[in-house]
Amino acid sequence: MQRVSNAKARPLLTAYQSHPIPFHKPNLGSTDRLALLEAFDAGEIGGGGSVGREVEKRLQALFQVNNALLMTNCSHSLEMALLIAGVSPGDEVLVPSFTFASCANAIVLRGAIPVFVEVAADTMTIDPADIEHRITPRTKAIMPVHYAGVAADLDPIMEIAAHHNLIVIEDAAQGVDAKYKGHYLGTIGHMGAYSFHSTKNITCGEGGAFLTSNAEFARHAEIIHEKGTNRAAFLRGESDKYSWVSVGSSYVLSDLLAALLNSQLDQMNAIRARRQAIDSHYRAGLADLEAAGLLQIGRIPHYAESNYHIFYVLLKDRVIWEETYSAMREQGVQATFHYVPLDTAPFGQQIRPAGYADLTRTNDLAGRLLRLPIYPDLSDDEVDYVIEAMHRALGQ
Ligand SMILES: *Cc1c(COP(=O)(O)O)cnc(C)c1O
Repeated sequence: MQRVSNAKARPLLTAYQSHPIPFHKPNLGSTDRLALLEAFDAGEIGGGGSVGREVEKRLQALFQVNNALLMTNCSHSLEMALLIAGVSPGDEVLVPSFTFASCANAIVLRGAIPVFVEVAADTMTIDPADIEHRITPRTKAIMPVHYAGVAADLDPIMEIAAHHNLIVIEDAAQGVDAKYKGHYLGTIGHMGAYSFHSTKNITCGEGGAFLTSNAEFARHAEIIHEKGTNRAAFLRGESDKYSWVSVGSSYVLSDLLAALLNSQLDQMNAIRARRQAIDSHYRAGLADLEAAGLLQIGRIPHYAESNYHIFYVLLKDRVIWEETYSAMREQGVQATFHYVPLDTAPFGQQIRPAGYADLTRTNDLAGRLLRLPIYPDLSDDEVDYVIEAMHRALGQ
């Protein structure tokens, strides 16, 4: 690619140093504001009202799944999925260590044991080849995480699960509007969880969804998420009163936030298109660094259609990572790391069984991963600048 000379780059450098390019900006506009005000003016502030119901139907149609429930967040959706799966004290659940704390929390809250699995080096998603030998008679479920909006390789995972009678719960927090072999993420396993947190592609600030096409799981979910009552059945006229029928919690999303989410869903294609353009721009601009062996760009395998949630590169080693991270920050680009593998985090270390063997591949990869800014508001000029900054950081 054509790069600006140092003389031209200098004024830009100082400008960005005083006003750094943020790592993330939520994508909110005037239509979102109007949608929120409309719900407010209609007095729809509680959960499970007409807006929430409409958005749930919309999610079902958009993502081709029989049941979608709006939830307070993705963490609660994962907790509910494990409750429905009947995960009990002493049970084991397979999960990558390279993920957000919510995954392991959901398991630990059931009194169950997270069994950490390596990630594949090209996608940072659970490595199917590392699953089988970690299965024991106590294994109940597998929780693949679709990192960066790129699908974990679900076919072999579903095959292993069927063979060992395990339940698959997809953490599709980052996978809204992304696909695996033509199917939407979150709809392929037995249950799935979405996040609409402000850091995600489609957001209502705090929010999530629980997805399943299994009628029995759906019936259970609609009770659990309404405090363990049969309120939903009562509202459908299937019961003449409603009462406490099962264990549950308060997981229903406010209609105010559902209205905001509805407005975001209107923009889903535009949001994905802009993110895709930035992703392509980065790939073209960093291709020479990859060809020179200085970094490796996160791969999108042929089976995956990404939503371009994260753009990341893997640096050659930890020392180069440290230097690159500092150099990017010094140039006014808020590039950043990602997860500290859960088994090496303070709480993970506390709950490790005796003789625990480190996940050496995951730990190595996690220490070399650098995320670059990607969001619809990021301009082409800013992307060019980030590409320049990466070249300078790597001495090119
Ligand atoms: C964001 C995220 C979550 C948590 O989502 P919340 O809606 O904030 O609870 C869980 N897992 C992964 C992989 C995430 O990226």
